[in-house]
This record gives sequence, C-alpha cells and structure tokens, in this order.
Amino acid sequence: MILVSACLIGLRCRYDGQNAFCRELVELLRDRQYLPVCPEELGNLPTPRPPSILVGGDGHEVLRLKARVVNEKGKDVTFNFLKGAKKALEMAQSFGVKVCFLKEKSPSCGVNFVYTDKGLQSGVGVTTAMLLKNGYKVIGIQPGETDIHKLKDLIKQVKGGKDELEM
Ligand code: SF4
Repeated sequence: MILVSACLIGLRCRYDGQNAFCRELVELLRDRQYLPVCPEELGNLPTPRPPSILVGGDGHEVLRLKARVVNEKGKDVTFNFLKGAKKALEMAQSFGVKVCFLKEKSPSCGVNFVYTDKGLQSGVGVTTAMLLKNGYKVIGIQPGETDIHKLKDLIKQVKGGKDELEM
C-alpha cells in the first residue's frame, strides 16, 4: 500500500482550497492501491484555512516540542499538526503502508524543503518527520518538477533496486 498526500491526486484540500495535482504520480499509481491522506484536515483544520509555517525548526523539532507551527494570522496550530501527523501514522500502520509520496514544501508533508519563519528552508514537515521516525520511506513530489522517469528512479532507490510498486 502506498500513502499519498491527498492534494497530489487532485483532492482540493490545500490551504487555499485548491489541489496540487501531479499527473505523473497519478499515472504511476494507476491500478495500484493507495491511501490518500491530508494530515492538516486530519488535524481538524478547515479547508480553506490560513497558510502555516514552521517556527524554530522543522518537523523533527516540532515532534520534540522544540519548534511550533503558526498560521498566517499568528495562531499556534502545533496541536493540529501533531494530531494530523499521528492520525496519518495510524492510518499508515492500519493499511500496511510501505512507502509515502508526499507534497514537497508543505509544513506537514514536505520531504526536502519546508516553509519556515526564515523562508523556504531545507527540512521536513511534521507528518513527514512522524513517518520517518517510524521507519517509513518517503518521497517528495513537486508537481511540474517531478517527471515519471524520475519517480520510477526514486522508487528503485527506495526499494533497493527493485522496480516494484506492489508494496
Ligand atoms: S500538502 Fe499535505 S497537508 Fe497540505 S494539503 Fe496536501 S496533503 Fe494536505
């Protein structure tokens, strides 16, 4: 089973009520079992919602309660992000997920980059940190920048050379 950020397959769950549809990823997932998850909605945040940034560190620091998540209106939404990350983890565990495709740059789902109080920085989102901490493989996807060949190569790397999505 594959866990995927719900916005990447077209669900309009982004903060602005839009999606982050990735045609190449949907093509790759065709006829495969996958689990769409939006951690921010799982954390009881509404859609649309004010955008949020990480303050004081990335998702790893948020899990250690050394950093926070704050929305554009200045509200601390750390609890919502932690709740969403925990629920996403529980779903991954329940459905036997092996690998996760996550939306790059998101304070929840970012894998290599996240928006912080210092702008776009290297780091992971809160849900990504939770999944990594529990041994899951994660792959960051940025629509328009990630083509299907790169996706397949990434999967080969993740699976140690096996070109196999029936995970
Ligand atoms: S990046 Fe993650 S939290 Fe943000 S809308 Fe997509 S699935 Fe939801």
